[in-house]
This record gives sequence, C-alpha cells and structure tokens, in this order.
Amino acid sequence: MPSIFTKIIAGEIPCYKIAEDDNFFAFLDINPNAKGHTLCVPKKEVDKLLDLDEPTFMGLMAFSRKVGKAIEAAIPCDRVGLTVIGLEVPHVHVHLIPLKSMENATFQYKERMTPAMFEETAQKIRQKL
Ligand code: AMP
Repeated sequence: MPSIFTKIIAGEIPCYKIAEDDNFFAFLDINPNAKGHTLCVPKKEVDKLLDLDEPTFMGLMAFSRKVGKAIEAAIPCDRVGLTVIGLEVPHVHVHLIPLKSMENATFQYKERMTPAMFEETAQKIRQKL
C-alpha cells in the first residue's frame, strides 16, 4: 500500500506544497513544531534514510539545503534545523525546522496554525526559492 507521502506526491491527498523536482517533493508538516516546519521527501518510496541509494541520499540533502535556505530567508528564526526520524511515516523524510529554541527541536511543542496561516507560510517560502 502506498505511503501517505506517496499519496501526497501523487496529488491524491492535499498538502501545502513548497517545491518539487524530478526526484524530490517538499511540503509543510501538518503538525508543525514551528511555523515553516517543512518535510522533504524522495519520490522513490523507501522506509529508512540509510537504505536510500547514495545518489538519492545525496540528492535529498542537496534538495533539502535549497528548501532550507528558502525557509531561513522567509521565516524569522535563529537557524533552520534538519532532522530525520521516521517513526510515524515509513517513507524517508527530512524535517526542516525553523529554530528559535531547543523546544522547536523536541517534537513536544506544536504550533497551532489555521489553513490560511499554512497557505501564507507556504507562499512566503516559495517566494524565496
Ligand atoms: P516521523 O515519521 O516521526 O518523522 O513524523 C512524521 C511527520 O509527518 C510528523 O511530523 C507529522 O506531523 C507529519 N505528517 C503526517 N501526515 C502528514 C500529512 N498528511 N501532511 C503533512 N505532514 C504530515
């Protein structure tokens, strides 16, 4: 069965899209640690980061760097953190999280955002790409 992220990439489930190329897709995390929290996903569905072939791993990092720089330019923060967990969704994804404090990195404090706030945030990031 395709992962929820494969369904998002296919347009079967809605998302607040940030960027896409031939191999990768970026969209806002629906339960963000901070405004601008973004997920970067390889289109190829693989569960664990270290099981990616090396070109896909390196390509995901390059794609995440580009998206992360746009987040840093669009969202007031001290820096953008990058982390990979994957305990919830078994399809590799890089979390890019605008950080102001360690709380933003813990996945315990969540930002409440309305659909309008998500759309505005996605637009701001897209404009910096
Ligand atoms: P993890 O697999 O532990 O790295 O976490 C999965 C992340 O995916 C969580 O931060 C969720 O909020 C996020 N997530 C799950 N479903 C969706 C969705 N439909 N759209 C955007 N983000 C999602």
